[in-house]
Amino acid sequence: MQRKKFDIKIDETILLKKNEDKLKFIEPYSFENRTTYISYDNVPVIKYKIFDEYPELITGFSTRVGGVSKKHLFTLNLSFSRGDDTENVMENHRRFAEAVGYDYQRLVFSDQVHQTHIHIIDSEEDAGKGIVKISDILETDGLITNLTDIPIMTFYADCVPLYMYDRDKSVIGLAHSGWKGTVADIGGRMIEKMNEVYGSKPTDIICAIGPSICRDCYEVDDVVIDRLRERYTAEELDKLTDDKGNGKYQLDLHLACKLNFIKAGVPDANIALPDLCTCCNSNILFSHRASKGMRGNLAAVMMLRA
Ligand SMILES: [Zn+2]
Repeated sequence: MQRKKFDIKIDETILLKKNEDKLKFIEPYSFENRTTYISYDNVPVIKYKIFDEYPELITGFSTRVGGVSKKHLFTLNLSFSRGDDTENVMENHRRFAEAVGYDYQRLVFSDQVHQTHIHIIDSEEDAGKGIVKISDILETDGLITNLTDIPIMTFYADCVPLYMYDRDKSVIGLAHSGWKGTVADIGGRMIEKMNEVYGSKPTDIICAIGPSICRDCYEVDDVVIDRLRERYTAEELDKLTDDKGNGKYQLDLHLACKLNFIKAGVPDANIALPDLCTCCNSNILFSHRASKGMRGNLAAVMMLRA
């Protein structure tokens, strides 16, 4: 099957030209059946088809394109902790927020540490924490709220973004799930927390797993696999990994995150797997692996409209 080229029309062709060999989506998804697509005005935004039917919801995922940052942070780095100039990061936030449709000065940031602490945003006081206010939301990989007009944001460069929306109770959640978070089941804990705090039923929750490293790009060793054995059965592990026989494995984090949602009671049909790999597309997405750590951060955002 012919690989589909990245369908994005931008002026920053330098990004595309330099990495033409990497202009590919991961298979086996066909373009017609994609789960994500690019909404492009001045700044491209990755959107999820599964959320398209909910106009009350704002969601997006950033790319490297359309910002002002330089060198390895080129161009739309959204993190203040990657050595970028504060003014650049602010300008990038302003541009991305305008493209997605929220007020960037009301963003609430996670503070990711590859663990499972989840913060419930239940007060207006939290609006702006991390961007225009010093934040007391620390060591937090998951954010949940039912408040409108407060955009929540988590950060990425290969790790897995988990988006959750309870369409019945109007609750949103975002979580960062690298392999450690996946083994610790942050996805399942988010579903439980939404149930505990808001009475969300897993069957009402729609989940999108965002752009992140694919099975072909993600090689791990025995240390990771041994930890995965604590969470997954031998049969599940067989589906999640390819044993290369040299103590190395290819790991499917996307499928592992989906399994976590299913174990938490979310129906298969409510979960969209990603069809876009950060590492395969490191020309337009930040990838920790592809850049050997020389990279900025992408971000996932979610908000309930007022
Ligand atoms: Zn890949």
